[in-house]
Amino acid sequence: MPELPEVTALAADLGSRLTGRVIERLDVVSFAALKTFDPPVSALTDRTVTAVGRRGKYLDIVATDLHLVVHLARAGWVRWRAQAPQPLRSAKGPIAARLVLDDGSGFDLTEAGTKKSMTIHLVRDPDEIERVATLGPDPLAADFTVDSLADILAAAGRSRVKGVLRDQRRVAGIGNAYSDEILHVARLSPFAPADSVDVRSLFDAIQSTLRDAIARAEGHAASELKGEKKSNMRVHGRFHEACPVCGDTIQQVIYADSTFQYCPTCQTGGTKLSDRVLDRLLK
Ligand SMILES: [Zn+2]
Repeated sequence: MPELPEVTALAADLGSRLTGRVIERLDVVSFAALKTFDPPVSALTDRTVTAVGRRGKYLDIVATDLHLVVHLARAGWVRWRAQAPQPLRSAKGPIAARLVLDDGSGFDLTEAGTKKSMTIHLVRDPDEIERVATLGPDPLAADFTVDSLADILAAAGRSRVKGVLRDQRRVAGIGNAYSDEILHVARLSPFAPADSVDVRSLFDAIQSTLRDAIARAEGHAASELKGEKKSNMRVHGRFHEACPVCGDTIQQVIYADSTFQYCPTCQTGGTKLSDRVLDRLLK
């Protein structure tokens, strides 16, 4: 799933290709993905793209007063096309929507797999989208400080820090992968209560992890970003591999619909955390 660093890089890549260009049309073939009907997608025709930005993990393509807001979800992606072959008419394969510029170039929004959860909104203001309006602060915003994080952690109380970092209403843009990485850098157990952690070291880990990932992603086209993200993970997705810091074997916890990884020596005082699915079955 693309998280803050990848969406930042995608927004920069799309911004450089789209800004100042005129939209010919948006074809949406995945009607499950399109969450709005007013204005209709035909309202994009003949509008000029003025900016491409990011809100949390959402891409925000601005076309004079309208915002095309896309959440790529777990398996969504953007594929640039120098030339769009033909109008999209039916949903087949992974393509959910296609944006075409007046010179025939453009991009496809694709989603792999059978469980589709990408969302596409066309709105006059991104805050019309409830999940955007309720996003927590952006951890890379200039006004996000150690004190901001201290307030978030205090409000979360005894909730586990891993869940707090992933909760988009508390802090925007961090998902399963980067929360694993941040907690490894901060040497924190994923299950540590939010109000017990060292705020400064967690803050520094958030900043360095996200900024390093953005720096690595910069200049890469959308097509290269996924590989770039995977190859630079320290613990996430590296079950049974050696921790790059201490050499211990990376462990994982399995939930019903996701897994996460951590290093016992670096993060949990050598303790192996138990699988939550198994726990529930045994109780
Ligand atoms: Zn380690």
